[in-house]
Amino acid sequence: MISGKTNVLAIIGNPVEHSLSPCMQNAALKELGLDYVYLAFPVREESLAEALTGFTALGIKGANVTIPHKINALNYMDELHESAEKVGAVNTIKNDSGELIGFNTDGEGMLRSLRNEVSEIESKSVLLLGAGGAARAIGFSIVEAGASLTISNRTASKAKKLAETISGQTKGDVRQVELSKKVLIDEIKNSDILINATSVGMEPNTDETLVSADMMHSDLIVNDIVYKPLKTKLLEEAEKAGAKTIDGLGMLVHQGATSLEIWTGEKAPIKVMRKATENAIKEE
Ligand code: NAP
Repeated sequence: MISGKTNVLAIIGNPVEHSLSPCMQNAALKELGLDYVYLAFPVREESLAEALTGFTALGIKGANVTIPHKINALNYMDELHESAEKVGAVNTIKNDSGELIGFNTDGEGMLRSLRNEVSEIESKSVLLLGAGGAARAIGFSIVEAGASLTISNRTASKAKKLAETISGQTKGDVRQVELSKKVLIDEIKNSDILINATSVGMEPNTDETLVSADMMHSDLIVNDIVYKPLKTKLLEEAEKAGAKTIDGLGMLVHQGATSLEIWTGEKAPIKVMRKATENAIKEE
């Protein structure tokens, strides 16, 4: 029951109409019996400052931040958690008695999702495809977990810059390689985990993949962070090669779970969140 005492959480972005987060978070809040509601607010790029001022005025308890505000939101936080500072983007805001604290839960979400499926991450070699916003958060978390990281991106200069930034800040083991079939074949032979953090394979281009079955081996773990469709062409190819697969909902659910825990202090009900998200995708 929504009452005069109900707390409000939000997602701000543009567009946000198709976000899976309201479904996922409201299912979790219901399961936990918390008097909260989570709503989506479309906020235009030029209206971010106004929206965040309104946010404190209205006492909104917290929010997720999505495209196009993730980087710009940094400028409006009273405090930045180190997760947002190192990634250079905010995806979660906590309103702490009028002070806005910015976090980034993408890296932690990826790590929690991987840890569910993979043991001893610290001993693994990870090949990360992509050098955009998601890859940046994932790259930091992989290296901080103690794994070795190789980054490959269509625009090689971005991969090089990201590899230098991560290794500079973490002193971890980070390399960059060219994104070509020949190079990827060799790299994959020596990798335990392949993560696709590019948008390749995302709707409507569902027949695209950067890696095919003949380039993979059966000991490989393949994690595609694209979740529309849930079974991407890359994951189909990985199954053909006998590799273990992890879909994009793993990271999505766990980054949302980490946000929920920041806002409420309660342990997030992962299974309920996953189910609600799967149902929302099916109904689309
Ligand atoms: P982004 O910052 O725009 O980065 C896009 C990345 O994809 C860049 O590395 C880009 O390479 C690469 N790319 C795009 N088209 C390509 C192509 N045709 N061939 C090779 N590389 C290509 O986007 P993002 O925020 O990182 O998101 C990337 C994907 O992850 C999206 O599909 C998004 O929906 C998904 N995502 C999922 C989660 C989750 O929780 N599961 C979270 C965040 C994002 P260049 O640098 O060369 O342009």
